[in-house]
Amino acid sequence: MKRSMTREKIFEELRLRLHDTVPEAELWYKSEIIVQINELKEKRNALILGHNYMEPVLYQSVPDFVGDSLELSRQAAQTDKDIIVFCGVRFMAETAKILSPQKTVLVPSAKAGCSLADGITAQDVRWLRKKYPGAPVVAYVNTTAEVKAEADICCTSANASAIVQSLLSETIIFVPDEYMARNIAAETGKHVVLASLHPADEGETQLDVQLVGWHARCEVHEKFTVADLHAIRKQFPDVVIAAHPECSPEVIAEVDFSGSTTAMIRYVENTTAPRYLLLTECSMADNIVAANPGKEMLRLCSVRCPHMNEITLEDTLESLLRTRYVVDVPEPVRSRAYEAVRRMLTIEPAPPSDRSLSVEKPPSSSHSR
Ligand code: SF4
Repeated sequence: MKRSMTREKIFEELRLRLHDTVPEAELWYKSEIIVQINELKEKRNALILGHNYMEPVLYQSVPDFVGDSLELSRQAAQTDKDIIVFCGVRFMAETAKILSPQKTVLVPSAKAGCSLADGITAQDVRWLRKKYPGAPVVAYVNTTAEVKAEADICCTSANASAIVQSLLSETIIFVPDEYMARNIAAETGKHVVLASLHPADEGETQLDVQLVGWHARCEVHEKFTVADLHAIRKQFPDVVIAAHPECSPEVIAEVDFSGSTTAMIRYVENTTAPRYLLLTECSMADNIVAANPGKEMLRLCSVRCPHMNEITLEDTLESLLRTRYVVDVPEPVRSRAYEAVRRMLTIEPAPPSDRSLSVEKPPSSSHSR
């Protein structure tokens, strides 16, 4: 959406895209906030990045780029703007700061955390390294800067398998997402064990361990169950189901397609099915429907990420107005975390796994506005 548009034009454009999802009165109210954000963005030489999980009006309006963590990380690394406003959760804004330390990085809400990032500490990673000496550590990007600083390489859901497969080591530590570790193990044929501070809980011999996981989960994706899928398939036998790899391996085994948020968007865009169901954060389905009005999308949507939900247009405006909340990462931590993120950015994502339909390889760059 162009920065110089009037409130009326913004409203018209939003109404065209979102008339099925957002009431007109709300669109009109938000159009005024968008005008103010666009003016400030220009004045302050700012770049706004929007994650795929942003609510539909924000997603469709102020971001210069929208995408998944990997794509937005790349944009953060390339920008020549003075300020980056990251409409996403804190670990994403921290990653932007790690990549662009000379920029002012803002996150609109101080409360936008993540159950995965909160599920492991730097101390836990040091403990894992002692327990599995010599094993490289892969940290999912949903981690704090301190945890990234302890890792050898980061990954996102778009490139996790490619990164694990690129490492020439018999044992690899993969943290913190239990389900993603188990899904990667299934995809790559590795034997996984979930490390525990209480070895009796691990329940497996360590002799042939190839992938060591941790026990954190995404509080959103863990909610989807196989019983949900069976119920939906019974009611809609022709539904095509795509799931994010933060869902359980049992759920992933039942779906038609699994991939990152961007891979799911491309999948829907590039395939033809009577109806789709996406097992991921709810706002994404709204955003896909807005971009693909001809596609029918089923909703299983009691599932909104409470952390992503903290990011609003109002807070984005306040963020630019008052320069809040500034994201800082101490330089000794940042420089070590940078190496892990930089290594990740040199590896291309593998094509997503598709169990039934043909899909074009998703583009590797985020889409700009
Ligand atoms: S959806 Fe899950 S992984 Fe993503 S920010 Fe929310 S809690 Fe974290």
